[in-house]
Amino acid sequence: MTDFDQEKYIKAGKILSDVRKQTKDMIKPGVLLLDVANKIENLTRDLGGQVAFPVNISINEIAAHYTPTPNDTTVFKDLDTIKIDTGVHIDGYIADSAYTVCLDPDKTEMVTIINKARDEAVKLATPERPVKEISETIESIITTNGYKPISNLTGHKLERYKLHTGFMIPNIKTNTKAILQENDVIAIEPFLTDGGGSIKESSNCHIYMFEKQKSIRSAAARQILSYAKTKVNGLPFAARWIKQPQGIILNLALKELISIGAIYGYNTLKEINNGIVTQAEHTVIVKDTPIITTK
Ligand code: MN
Ligand code: MN
Repeated sequence: MTDFDQEKYIKAGKILSDVRKQTKDMIKPGVLLLDVANKIENLTRDLGGQVAFPVNISINEIAAHYTPTPNDTTVFKDLDTIKIDTGVHIDGYIADSAYTVCLDPDKTEMVTIINKARDEAVKLATPERPVKEISETIESIITTNGYKPISNLTGHKLERYKLHTGFMIPNIKTNTKAILQENDVIAIEPFLTDGGGSIKESSNCHIYMFEKQKSIRSAAARQILSYAKTKVNGLPFAARWIKQPQGIILNLALKELISIGAIYGYNTLKEINNGIVTQAEHTVIVKDTPIITTK
């Protein structure tokens, strides 16, 4: 990685962190999820960044991959536990970071512990570090406090225009042989729950990504596929970002594109026993002194 690349990673992280600071106050009862998503994504652009993926706003037992629909009427409720997962990029150099707001005073410990797991784990993002050690640290902090890590959600490596690539960083101890190298860019993202400790896909899908060029008869579907491939550079997108087509035509076209394998649909992920889920995530550049870009 050249110094130039590194500066862009750092700049993307700084924008993300500024956006977080300026929008955190919106996470309170009665506020529309759609307003929060629009504010975060618009502010990202106003501050000179690009949106790397639709803001994930996942509540309670939803662990990830919920983003507001075009006419979403959901509002935050009094005791919600809310994960805000945001992505910013500069020329494809991505910052990916998440935090949890817990409005239930009896459950705030779940936020304290997940932040601790993340903060201890990022300290280990040094060259020659076995990924296994990061997983062990995360698992141990979560389990000694009486909760379960989500075993089938992981951190990941990032590359230019690639959100998830190379090795994964599990939140439980595994036999992974991956070793961190200097200048690897990684996202460390523990999830914990008071439920069963894993997630399953629900049938709802609100986030999409280009997968493969296919020949398509429907003009609406062709338009969306072109958007997915070129307008967002193959990064994930939401239905609410698409201006034309809209409504039922948009939904049918998205379904068609998924069914033929032209785009991938990310289904929302739900805790297996409907336990409450908390998440904390930072993007880190691996160095002797790790650089936390999204701090
Ligand atoms: Mn994330
Ligand atoms: Mn991530």
